[in-house]
Order: sequence, then C-alpha cells, then structure tokens
Amino acid sequence: MPDLNLMIPGPVAVEDDVLQALAKPTLPHYGPLWMAVYEETVGRLKRLFETENDVLIVPGNGTGALEMAISSLVPRGEGVVVLDNGFFGTRTRDMVEACGQHAWLLSGPWGEPADPDTLRAHLTEWVPAAKADGHPIRAVVIIHNETSTGVLSPLEALARVAREFGLAVIVDAVASFGGVRIPVDAWGIDVCVSVANKCLGTPPGVGLLSISPRAWEMAAQNPSPHGWYANLNTWHWHLENWGDWHPSPTTMPTNNVVALNTALKGIFERGVEEHFASFRRAAAHTREGMAEMGFTLLPDPQWAAPMISALNSRPDIDVEAMRAALLSDYGIMVSGGLGPLRGKVFRVGHMGRAREDQAVDALLAATRDYLTRQGLA
Ligand SMILES: *Cc1c(COP(=O)(O)O)cnc(C)c1O
Repeated sequence: MPDLNLMIPGPVAVEDDVLQALAKPTLPHYGPLWMAVYEETVGRLKRLFETENDVLIVPGNGTGALEMAISSLVPRGEGVVVLDNGFFGTRTRDMVEACGQHAWLLSGPWGEPADPDTLRAHLTEWVPAAKADGHPIRAVVIIHNETSTGVLSPLEALARVAREFGLAVIVDAVASFGGVRIPVDAWGIDVCVSVANKCLGTPPGVGLLSISPRAWEMAAQNPSPHGWYANLNTWHWHLENWGDWHPSPTTMPTNNVVALNTALKGIFERGVEEHFASFRRAAAHTREGMAEMGFTLLPDPQWAAPMISALNSRPDIDVEAMRAALLSDYGIMVSGGLGPLRGKVFRVGHMGRAREDQAVDALLAATRDYLTRQGLA
C-alpha cells in the first residue's frame, strides 16, 4: 500500500514537529519539570478557549471527557436536554441515560443545524414540566460540529437560549475547538469539551475541558456524581490543593501533552486566524473539485463546518468500493457515512495535514483516476 494519507475527521495526520515532540524523553506528571510544561499548555488552551475559566487536560478521548462533565454536573434522576441532529447527538442521549439522568431529546433533521427558536419553544414547555415533576432540567448539551453530517450549529445563540432558562451549557466541541472561534466566556459556556487529535492536529491521547465557576459549583452540589476518577470534584480538589506540583489526580500521558503544547505553539506562531482560515481553504478546494466530479455537499453550504465535508455519493457509484480503492490503491483514507447515511455519503476531514494543498490535490486526482478506471468519469 502507498504511504497512508489520513483524511478522516479524526484522528488526523500529524505534523513532523509534533511527532518529534512526542518522541522526547518521558516526563513525570508532577514536580517542577512537569509544572512548566503543564502551565504553558493550559495557558495556551485558555487563550484559544478565550477563557478565564479553569481548563483541564484529562487522559483519554472526547467521549470520556463529555461523560465526566455530564455525570459530574447533573444529579441522577434529573434532566439533561440533548440537541440531536446526527450520530453524536443520538449517542449523547445514550450517555445521559447511562449516567442515570433523564434525557430530553430535541431531534432535528440530519444535515441541518440545531435551531435556537425551536430550543426556546421546547424549553418553555419542558423546564416547568420537569420542575413540577420533581426532576428538574439542569443542563443543555450542544453538539457544535456534528461530524456525521458536517454541520456547525449556531453555538452562541443556542447557549444564550439555554442561559435564559438558567441551564448549564455543556458543549461537545470535539470536532470544532481549534477550527473555529469558540469564545467560551463571551458566549457563557459552562463546560466546553474537546480533544487534542482533531482541529489541534496532535495524536489521540487527551481530552480537554474548560470549566466555569458555576460548573464547579454544580459538581460540588451534586449528591450522586459518578465514581471518583471521572468525578470532576476529584480533579478540582487536585487543582486547588496540589495545583502547584501535581495538578491531576493520576498519571498523565505526558508525551501527548508535550506534543499538544508544541502544536499549540505552532498555531499561535502562525496565527490563530490563519489556522482557522486553513480549514476554510481546504474545504473550499475539496468541495469545488468534488463538485466537478458530481459529488455535492450534504448540508447547505451556509452551515457546513469548515473542518469536514460530508459529500453525497452518486447513484451510479458504490461509495464503499470507492473508499476501499482510495485506500488500497492511493493510500488515502476518507470516512464513510454513519448510521442512516452509510453507503450514501463519504466524509473528508480537513484537519491536520489533510488540509495541505498537496493532500487535497492528491485526493482529487485519486478520485478522478478511480472514476476513469471504472468508466464512471
Ligand atoms: C470525534 C467526535 C467525538 C468522539 O470523540 P472521541 O475522542 O472518539 O471520544 C464526539 N463528538 C464529536 C462531535 C466528534 O466529532
């Protein structure tokens, strides 16, 4: 097989300087050597989150970090509104239920963003009903970039509606943080969850959470948080009491944090606006080239996320066979459709090295070549 060219919506192909940072001698997760790296990394994350709130780096993935937030803030039996317009929304509903809470699912069509007016209309009914029932709604979970469809929901407006009802705002920004602006403080986001391995372009290994004072307070008041490790109170205690030498309760994937710090340094050196613009350029280039081959964008371009393109297949094409050939013959991996979109769409990630011109050109050339060989051009 040719060299692998990862063009999926995470994990992503990583820059050489970040890979080299990963290969440096392993640091301990406490003490002065660690504190210098940790504080620099958290400082850069706060700058990118545009927040004065605490920021946690946790071992693992985005799903785990989101579950930590939901299970820590909301007591068992109480309500969480989940905005569902795709695969990750539906999965968050399952997560809420598995945490013993009641999920109020607000479903919209796949391929469209969540709508603030619809949210307001539902909260107007749901919030008093849940309260009267003794199981009040505490939080709204918003999937910012719904990666299954490549749709960006209007986060600022949705967060504002949630706050009108006094609800905590928890955001799954796994596939958007570092790809578009998310001013956490200005938009009143209580917990913003992300990872290092999507728009920040580092290998998988850590989850990220920004946590508002109100979110810490909710976690502290929660009579039924989830265990010890996944309980944000444990993490808060370490920040407060051991923050100057051992800020996390457990061993950290320190090499991953060093790599993340290197990636963040690069983003600030090149400029955050330039970093954001690089996704938009790659998306535009991909969409134009694919449109010439008859592949249209699944969502309306006005709300398509710049970090991923979900493209409709053509009726004469077996999209799974095309994906398999792109990988085996050209070394290019793109994603298929999730859930009901399986076999109907393919998804091209623009994160990490996939957004370089060379990568996009290679994908377009390989796709054209495949179609020619199949007599489908
Ligand atoms: C990738 C992704 C996740 C899952 O992240 P993991 O790190 O695999 O747990 C969750 N939500 C969205 C929107 C994603 O794109």
